Amino acid sequence: MHTTVFDVAVIGAGPGGSAAAYYLARQGKKVLLMDKASFPRDKTCGDGLTPRALDVLDDMGILAQAEAAGYRVNGLSVFAKRGAVLQSTIPKHPSLHDYLLVVPRLRLDDIVRRKALEQGVTFQGDTRVTGLTPHADGVDIHVQASGGPDTYRAQMAVVAAGANMSFLREIGILRHTPRPIVAVRAYYEGLQGLGDHIQAHFEQVPMPGYGWVFPTGKDSANIGLGMWRDQASAPESLRAALAHFLQAPRMQALLQNATQVGAVKSYPLRIDFTTAPTFGERVLLVGESAGLVSPLTGEGIDFALETGKLAAEFLHGVFAHGDFSRAVLAGYDRLLRSHFQSMFTFLGYLRKVYVNPLLMDRIIRLCERIPDVRHLFVSILLSQQHPAALLRPGILRKVLIGV
Ligand SMILES: Cc1cc2nc3c(=O)[nH]c(=O)nc-3n(C[C@H](O)[C@H](O)[C@H](O)COP(=O)(O)OP(=O)(O)OC[C@H]3O[C@@H](n4cnc5c(N)ncnc54)[C@H](O)[C@@H]3O)c2cc1C
Repeated sequence: MHTTVFDVAVIGAGPGGSAAAYYLARQGKKVLLMDKASFPRDKTCGDGLTPRALDVLDDMGILAQAEAAGYRVNGLSVFAKRGAVLQSTIPKHPSLHDYLLVVPRLRLDDIVRRKALEQGVTFQGDTRVTGLTPHADGVDIHVQASGGPDTYRAQMAVVAAGANMSFLREIGILRHTPRPIVAVRAYYEGLQGLGDHIQAHFEQVPMPGYGWVFPTGKDSANIGLGMWRDQASAPESLRAALAHFLQAPRMQALLQNATQVGAVKSYPLRIDFTTAPTFGERVLLVGESAGLVSPLTGEGIDFALETGKLAAEFLHGVFAHGDFSRAVLAGYDRLLRSHFQSMFTFLGYLRKVYVNPLLMDRIIRLCERIPDVRHLFVSILLSQQHPAALLRPGILRKVLIGV
């Protein structure tokens, strides 16, 4: 048992955990950040950063570093199943950036983690957390590290362990395993006609799901595919689906002289925030550990960064009052619900609609013709607008009757 008592132990040094650690340290808290990996480490991802994610990186003072490590993308294209194509710039928003970045996670996560370290956070890599024991004075964090089993002590724990559902079950947070979606990706070089848009493809992709091309440079990209379908969860069927998607004529044109760099990798995503637990005894959850991935697009880096910051702000009040009871921590759940519950509920509904090929084609064709529908749709895809905006009478009329 270590004698140092930390204010907060953060489990997982992805964007959610490192952001939480940074913001807590900025308040003067004594923070321990732990990860089972040694850094820098890769995380299987599409590497796309929405304007919401850029906003938090900017607030942390690391947007320029992320830009230098990544590739700036100025628009978005959607290729519907039945031939319609949407092309759009990133809609202007009063407070958000109007571009996207694609930053390989090997680089991004280390930039965020190093910023937390600069702020005074203690980091322990190669340290797998195996259990948490809450008690009257705090929480004991049991780990398996290179030197063997060990225990740390803190007043609070923040769990940012991503989609590691078995861990969340082991520590008693998850009572059942939510049904994740699954996604697969690989890096390619030597692409032709890539342009500076991120691309979402529905041609030759099993529904519900979509393929993506996220440029990492002028002629290189992260290319992948996500599937919402249960029977496709085996890695082999995912890889087969990716191979089929890459045979689509548009993809063949892009890939004709390209080479794959590194392995094809797959990983699950949790999209169950609306029913997910967000706290426990002496524990708050952030990012994907709270199921915070868009059910529409699969993006979750933005919500991980945002909830890292929100958890730190919430804990500021908890430490000020010195009451760590469940009744007080339930306020964190209310905070997250007030930010995300209705948005995620609507995104879930919208997914059911947009995976209908006929309806999707109709919406994309409307987007081609009517700029305000296009901007709204793209803003919703990027989580910049609440999807209920589609129900505004003026917009709904255009969607339903096309004028
Ligand atoms: C193929 C794919 C493509 C995606 N594309 C995008 C995209 O383009 N844009 C986007 O915004 N999102 C995307 N996502 C989702 C995004 O990757 C996640 O939502 C995001 O990484 C969540 O961040 P996080 O900090 O919550 O968790 P993570 O980034 O998963 O970090 C969790 C950390 O916890 C550590 N950990 C886990 N268990 C333990 C333990 N027991 N002890 C110690 N450490 C532990 C892990 O090693 C890891 O470092 C994609 C996901 C997949 C699978």
